[in-house]
Amino acid sequence: MDKFIPLASPDIRDEDIEAVVNVLKSGQLVQGKEVENLEVELSKFLNVPYCVMMANGTSTLQLSLVALGIGRGDEVIVPAFSYMATANVVELVGAKPIFVDIDINTFNINPQLIEEKISSKTKAIMVVHEFGLCADMNLIIDLCESHGLYLIEDAACAIGAKYNSRFAGSFGVAGSFSFHPRKAITSGEGGAVVTFDKSMANKLKTLRNHGIDALKPGVMDFILPGFNFRMTDFQAALLQSQLKRLDFALNRKRDIATRYLNELKNEDLTLPSVQNYSLPSWQTFHILLSNHLNQSAIILKLREFGIGTNYGAQCMPEQTYFKNKYGYNSNKEYPNAFRAFTNGLAIPLYEKLSDDQVTYIIDTINSL
Ligand SMILES: *Cc1c(COP(=O)(O)O)cnc(C)c1O
Repeated sequence: MDKFIPLASPDIRDEDIEAVVNVLKSGQLVQGKEVENLEVELSKFLNVPYCVMMANGTSTLQLSLVALGIGRGDEVIVPAFSYMATANVVELVGAKPIFVDIDINTFNINPQLIEEKISSKTKAIMVVHEFGLCADMNLIIDLCESHGLYLIEDAACAIGAKYNSRFAGSFGVAGSFSFHPRKAITSGEGGAVVTFDKSMANKLKTLRNHGIDALKPGVMDFILPGFNFRMTDFQAALLQSQLKRLDFALNRKRDIATRYLNELKNEDLTLPSVQNYSLPSWQTFHILLSNHLNQSAIILKLREFGIGTNYGAQCMPEQTYFKNKYGYNSNKEYPNAFRAFTNGLAIPLYEKLSDDQVTYIIDTINSL
């Protein structure tokens, strides 16, 4: 290959650019009709009645916690392996993240390990559909019901993924999505919360816009100390344009993932395992290296071969802030999350990859 294959590359086309330029020319730049239209489109796509757009897929998680009244003295159960935002937002509202180890085959929270971590302070389970592979929801839903806990889904990676026949993000009181350029479709920065609960949606709309009463448009009444986590209309126009190609992008990514699953053959690699309840969105194709292979050496070696790779997500209790504050020993307490962090490797997977590039990636990795 004569051209470097990056780990990720957003697909921005002429029609996307035109949609953005049209909004810029219109003069209505923030939280206007394009954001509203996008909320309707995403609701329809995900089959959930309410959708609230925000600045990014971290503000969506943070405001979901705030809207549910979760804060000081409360605990929220999260997987030990995810992008840091999942645990950071729990800290940011003053609550304590309670980490649960993952299933090493799916990289998702191990539902069998959750119940022992539930205490009188637990208010919610924040489940992550890591890399766009669905978490095993049935037991998690049962636990939420039997212990009276809120179910929040961090579906940042999982737009279009399905658990059985239902979209990821449509199971809990709040389903959060990110539209960062690393995700399947992008608005640059952007996020969405979907919910079946109308009052939750209104509260989120109030919180994202300085606390203004969302039920009285045109009336300037501030009923809460709110944030400014609004989305711009040109971002919303970009995402509406991208959303039209989401099914195409998902299908192409599923085809590439199928090739990886069938053709990557190296005894020093373990491939992700797709459970029969999960139709993944394949946000990231994440493989595990055996202890014979050194993660950072492999990243450098593949870079020399013209292939961009990186570790996939963090063992969150192993990061300096959490380690210092709570004194975790991740290697012992969260061995699978620790292993996914130290031995994991995300390889390129996006719709713009050509068949030849996919073949090159497979051949190169097989010969490591
Ligand atoms: C990307 C991501 C986020 C954060 O989304 P941003 O839009 O970058 O704020 C949160 N959680 C997970 C699991 C993610 O992958």
